[in-house]
Amino acid sequence: MNISNKAKNIAPSPTLFIDAKAKKMQQEGIDIISFGAGEPDFDTPENIKNAGVKAIKEGKTKYTPVGGIPKLKDAICAKLKKDNNLLYSPSNIVVSCGAKHSLYNVFQCILNPGDEVIIPVPYWVSYPEMVKMADGIPVFADTSEKENFTLTKEKFLSVITPRTKAIVINSPSNPSGMLYSKSQLQALADVAVEKNILIISDEIYEKMIYDNTSHLSVASLGEEIKKITVVVNGLSKSHSMTGWRIGYIACDAKLAEAVTNIQSHSTSNPCSISQFAGVEALEGPQEKSAEMLAAFDKRRKVMVEGLHSLPGIKCSMPQGAFYAFPDISGLLGKLYNSKKITSSDDLAGFFLEAAKVAIVPGSAFGMDNYMRLSYATSMENIEKGISRIKEAIEKLK
Ligand code: PMP
Ligand code: GLU
Repeated sequence: MNISNKAKNIAPSPTLFIDAKAKKMQQEGIDIISFGAGEPDFDTPENIKNAGVKAIKEGKTKYTPVGGIPKLKDAICAKLKKDNNLLYSPSNIVVSCGAKHSLYNVFQCILNPGDEVIIPVPYWVSYPEMVKMADGIPVFADTSEKENFTLTKEKFLSVITPRTKAIVINSPSNPSGMLYSKSQLQALADVAVEKNILIISDEIYEKMIYDNTSHLSVASLGEEIKKITVVVNGLSKSHSMTGWRIGYIACDAKLAEAVTNIQSHSTSNPCSISQFAGVEALEGPQEKSAEMLAAFDKRRKVMVEGLHSLPGIKCSMPQGAFYAFPDISGLLGKLYNSKKITSSDDLAGFFLEAAKVAIVPGSAFGMDNYMRLSYATSMENIEKGISRIKEAIEKLK
């Protein structure tokens, strides 16, 4: 079979790959603890499931308008107004099959071959591949833990070229869990407006922010920046609806129309049943999301403090999302059974073999001195996993 050059150039999603591998080992009876994929371990709230069942029973099982049913678009507009102080009308909204699909569509619609997209490092695994799938060029911009893994204005300016089309901002961040402050967002927004660079603002972890800090959408900083920002969000994380596949964008109406056109030839509408459940998710009671957040907060502290106490690992406290992103450079160069661990990939292999713990190596996010552990799993798993990692580290020479 002759696979296209484009497809050959795309790596599989490492987060989904590791999750699938851990699940397969579990099915084979191997006692694996997975800190792999970032997926809330809570069930979808009952009221949302019931809305899905009701939609099936009422025969809402046919094609819908490509970019989403009017009721869902209205609910999204109301949510953006209430939570983010953003005024949009339904013509600015497109609902897709998960935020991943929303992002994919956006890159397809904004990039011409050779256009560049600035991606701060560490980044979520799919951004560079999506840019490449749209014939664009990912341009990586370094950040450091000292600066909370956030992109500075100076660094942003230093990677802009005449081909720069867009920048991706993901706050709270997957994998670092870090947030941009208002002044940091303002500094980046000023540059974007001055240079006319689109901001793709991935706000999927907006509801997962700790210590009474609240989310701020860069689009809410003023009319000028709002015009050139694409807000990306969805229900996967906020309402534990990963399998339902509902994501959306809010943006300029012309771009929304282009995205709808692209979608009309690929997936058509997102699942009709999920859309009706999505209306309930946005309009119904929100207590369950608050309960999830409280549980994640407790786990965050146990995970981060547990990791930080281990030799060779340094872990700062993330402010959002549900990932710990520790520095593992103290473990690189160590020997396991006289084999040297030289990279985060080696370390991930070592933890899987010696600790029966699945983690995602930092290489997947562009930072090889780090690893990512999702704490969207039970406290029992977190405690057991940390103690297994500890025992495994003791075996290193
Ligand atoms: N953006 C980020 C940063 C993510 O971690 C994810 C996780 N899946 C997504 C987008 C996509 O979410 P989904 O497609 O499940 O809505
Ligand atoms: N976003 C989650 C993660 O980073 C789910 C897997 C994926 O879609 O990549 O683990």
